Amino acid sequence: MLILISDTFGNSLPDRLSKFGEVTDDKSRISEANIILIRSKTKVTREFIDSASNLKLVIRGGVGLDNVDLEYASEKGIEVHNTPAASAIAVAECAFTLMIGITNHIGRADSSMRNGKWIKKELKRTELYKKTLGIIGLGRIGTELAERGAAFGMIVVAYDPYVKNSDYADMKVKMKDVLNISDYVSLHLPLNDSTKGVINAETLKEFKDGSFLINTGRGKTIIEEDVADALQSGKLAGFGNDVWYSDPPESNPFADFSNVLMMPHLGASTKENLLRIGGIVENIISEFLID
Ligand code: NAD
Repeated sequence: MLILISDTFGNSLPDRLSKFGEVTDDKSRISEANIILIRSKTKVTREFIDSASNLKLVIRGGVGLDNVDLEYASEKGIEVHNTPAASAIAVAECAFTLMIGITNHIGRADSSMRNGKWIKKELKRTELYKKTLGIIGLGRIGTELAERGAAFGMIVVAYDPYVKNSDYADMKVKMKDVLNISDYVSLHLPLNDSTKGVINAETLKEFKDGSFLINTGRGKTIIEEDVADALQSGKLAGFGNDVWYSDPPESNPFADFSNVLMMPHLGASTKENLLRIGGIVENIISEFLID
């Protein structure tokens, strides 16, 4: 049994998995691997699957499975699992961090101090209290964010065609009903045909003037150039972003905007989450071997 750890997991994982067989991170051994562990970096495409002739199980540590060719994996009899429940708190805290960071000019304040500048007058902060937080996609992560927004005294509204009620958010029937009234819009959408490019020049017109956009879902749910235009025109007061068209981005249209706070896809990367994911991976392999 060869387990190939292809992406970044917790440091303790190789030891925890060694009871099942040999564990390696040597990607050149892909053709020998029976189990492969990935996060978002490794793309399990048709070509990748063809190069892995002994592969029986793919485990994606995290939520989205858009980096796995599920149809071809199933055709080849390869089981695919993910760990959807593990990351909700980590990603919700990441969205909240970006929201607090962008509204308090954390990036500019810090870099100006490092450069010996004192720009106190330019940097008026904004309180979250009594502001409206609009959540698009009220699943596991959206719900954790809604709870945190409510705890900060925010008015929380949400749009999700598959969720009718929430303890923390007032559900709206149309996305534009959320965009029209929100001071902060946070995206928590999976990437699929209905969500790709859903934040574009047309939907950006529905945003409240001077509102903030936060994206910790998937990069391709926004049209980056249209968001950059909305930042340029002042329609958006700021943008907090963790997710990109590719990791790392080939070109970054936001690099010159001082009102954009960026992270290199860190949403799920907490120490605690990597440990949680490790425990779930261990269970998946145990059950797979019993079956
Ligand atoms: P989830 O499946 O629990 O929630 C997604 C929600 O989106 C669901 O409730 C679904 O009904 C809703 N939805 C689907 N299509 C919609 C549409 N067109 N309009 C509005 N709502 C729609 O998933 P989750 O665990 O909350 O994760 C959300 C996304 O966060 C994931 O799909 C993944 O892309 C992203 N994510 C990012 C990181 C990161 O590191 N930044 C980590 C984990 C997950």
